Parts: sequence; structure tokens; C-alpha cells
Amino acid sequence: MKLSFHGAAQTVTGSKHLVTLNNGQQVLLDCGMFQGLGAKTYSLNQQFGFNATAVSWLLLSHAHIDHSGLIPKLVKEGFRGRILCTQATKDLTEILLFDSAQIQEHFKEETKNDPLYSLEDVRNALELFQVISYEEIVILSDDVSAMFTQTGHLVGSAAIHLTIREDGKETTISYSADVGRARHPLLQPAASFPQAEYLILESTYGDKHHDIQSNNIDILLKWITKTCMHKKGKLIIPAFSVGRTQEILFLLNQLELEKRLPDLSYFVDSPLSMQATEVIKKHTNDFNDRLQGILKIDDDPFVFKGLKYVEHADDSVRLVDYKEPCVIISASGTADAGRVRHHIRETAGSRNNTILFSGYCGSESLGGHLLSGAKQVEMFGEPVEIFAEIAQLNGLSAHGDCDDLCNFINCQDPGSVRSVFLVHGEKKVQEALAARLSRKDFYPIHIPAHHEEFILNRAMMTERPNELKEAG
Ligand SMILES: [Zn+2]
Repeated sequence: MKLSFHGAAQTVTGSKHLVTLNNGQQVLLDCGMFQGLGAKTYSLNQQFGFNATAVSWLLLSHAHIDHSGLIPKLVKEGFRGRILCTQATKDLTEILLFDSAQIQEHFKEETKNDPLYSLEDVRNALELFQVISYEEIVILSDDVSAMFTQTGHLVGSAAIHLTIREDGKETTISYSADVGRARHPLLQPAASFPQAEYLILESTYGDKHHDIQSNNIDILLKWITKTCMHKKGKLIIPAFSVGRTQEILFLLNQLELEKRLPDLSYFVDSPLSMQATEVIKKHTNDFNDRLQGILKIDDDPFVFKGLKYVEHADDSVRLVDYKEPCVIISASGTADAGRVRHHIRETAGSRNNTILFSGYCGSESLGGHLLSGAKQVEMFGEPVEIFAEIAQLNGLSAHGDCDDLCNFINCQDPGSVRSVFLVHGEKKVQEALAARLSRKDFYPIHIPAHHEEFILNRAMMTERPNELKEAG
């Protein structure tokens, strides 16, 4: 049996991990798109590094595009197997894939890149989806079964556990996908899972401790009050449409329940956010106990006085010119794309306005430049002077920190784990997490390179030239 890594290998995007049985059957874990790697991104998305027609099943951990975004391309290239995921993942993936196809079509002139797939390819892919429940054991064939467990990262998100029978022996592989933080404001925490021999573990924040002391709701209120009430300016919050936007709406709804929400207009300028909020609202089973309790007194925890969704592009243009104090939540979270860029360009020149980032921004992103104190940035091909205040809500993250990752695998006996593979992280972070896990007696720990292949169940060479490695 072989395990190979075709994305999210020493980087945080493009998750695709392939298990190949000796009989040729293949299980693909996620089929994510590479995002935000500059000029390299498009070419990385063109070549899978494996044959789509040879893949027997695709198991999808969650809807985020860096885990789901190349599914229509896989189908376009001949994949005809089943795609298994939870109901919430299917619902969110559907809107994200249609959005992705539309964006690629819309920007093909500007980017000079042919779309990787069309709306028709998305429709064909959706035909192959099969919904399963958490903890349900799904028999894929005589040799392969799978189970999904909660990871508390996004509504519907799951870790995937495979049991494979080969040559009279049973092998277990657990893939964490993305692991949420322990105290997510909306979601249940990650569940424990049965003992595995091989662990594929994400490592996004494998060297960090989240600031759990900072009180997001008070920081958010402080910026609304300072910007909109005192300075009569606009507060722009770049936020990803799926997950982060709903967390911010939930915080604003909390402020209203506590009678502390300033009387203002709160705009969500993203049609995708509107659709995603509707889907997330339906999947209340994934909500944590606290939110379940809130639902008993407030039937819609994402709606409050003053909230308006902006759907049409014309209305978004009008909102850019709107002069009244207000809060605008718009995508993308790193300000590299989407409508939020127009709001930033318009508001950046005044000290009365604030741009409040709500999550991780890579150092190369526009958000990263602004947060590092840039006084001038380039937007739409022109220089933009920055006078607005730039701030960040540090306490919101969909990914757990190093303690959360260690807690996630606490249910595992290190002596029974034959190898750990770290994925979905920058290499320096992965090395720090590897050192910590080895102190917990996990051994060996591999940090796979892009397209690297390991042979499981026996000690032998990988197919990477000039290097010897054992996967145990
Ligand atoms: Zn994710």
C-alpha cells in the first residue's frame, strides 16, 4: 500500500492525499485547490500528479476550497467514483464550487488563465456526492471501509478514518484534515477517534498558542465605537464568506442580546456569505452546547437590528460611495480578492476609518502588508496611501493551535502509531510540531514534500530519488 501527498505538503493549501492499495484501488482524501501562491498557483492546479480515472473514491473532509476546489476538475478528467462527505459539507461545497467556477470565468481575461472547470463540470461533480453521518462506518468495498468524526473546524467538517484489508492484514489510517480550536464560538469540539497505525495530521498553527485571553466581543465593540460612533467613520472587516463571517455575525448578535450593540447599519457585502449563512443555520446539530442554549431564546443567532446583506454588484458599488458611519463585512479575509478591495481603496485615505482584519493573513497578502504597517500599497494597478487605522481580531481562528493539535491526538497510543505525516503547514512550523510530538513519543514523524510517496507496512525506499525513508 502506498500513501502519496499531492498538495498541502509543506504549505497550507491544495490538500490532496492519495492511498493506493496493492490491487490498484485508490482512495483520495480531499481534492483541494491551491490558493494564494502567486504565479505558481495556476500551474500547481493544472497537474494533479496522479490519474483522475484511476481514483476509486474521494472522501471529502470539509467544504473549504483548499480541500474541495478541484473536485470538478477531477470529474472533468474522468473520475467517476463516489464522493463521500457530511450533509453540511455537501451543501457548503455546492455553493463554493459554483462560486469558484464563476470567479474563474469572470477573471479569465484579467488573469489570462483558462478556467480550470465550468459550471457544467460542477453540476456533473455534484451528481457523484453521497452523504454520510458522523461515526457511521461506510463499507466502500470488501477491502476498504471509512468513518468520519467531528473536527470542530467548520460546519460539517470531519476527520477521516480508513480501515484497509490487504494481504490478510488490517491497516488503519486517520487523516485529521483541519482541526478546530477547543473553544470555537459556534461549533462542537473535535471528537476522539479509534487507534490508528498511520496518522496524517494538519500543522497550520503547530508552533503557536492562540491568544485565548483576548475577548473578541469587547475588541470588536471597541473598534465599532471608536470608528463609527466617535470618528463617524467606516469600519471595514475583511472576512472569509464561509465560517468567519458567521462568527462575526454571531458576536454582533451577542452584543445585541447584551444590549450593547451600537445603533448603526451593518452590511454584509458578499452574496456567497448570504448563502453560506443560510446553510450554516440549518446544521444546528454541529453547534456547541452554548449555542444550542442560545437557540432556545434566539431562533436566529446570526441576525440582529441594522443587518443588511448586499447581493447585487450595483448595490456594492453604491455602498463604496456611502458616506454614513457603518460597519461593512466583506470577502476576502486577506483582502487579496473580492469586493472588500473596493471598500479598502475607498476608505484607506482617511484617519476616521478602520480596516479590522479577522484572521490569518500571509505576509505576501494585501492584509499582511497592511498589518505590517505599510504606508502605501498597490491596488488595481495604482498606489494607495494608507491613513486609516489597521487592526486585527486575534482571537478568531478556524484552526486549533499546537495544544489543540496535541489534544486531538491524545486519544492515540504513540506506541501503536507506526508513522505520523505532517501536512497543511509551513515547513518551519511543521519542524516545531514534529519536535513537540516526538517528545510525546510519536515516532517517526515525516514532513512529506510535494508528490512524495511512502510505502506503508514495510520498511523500504520511497520513490523519491536519492533519499531513503521508511514509513514503518
Ligand atoms: Zn479548512
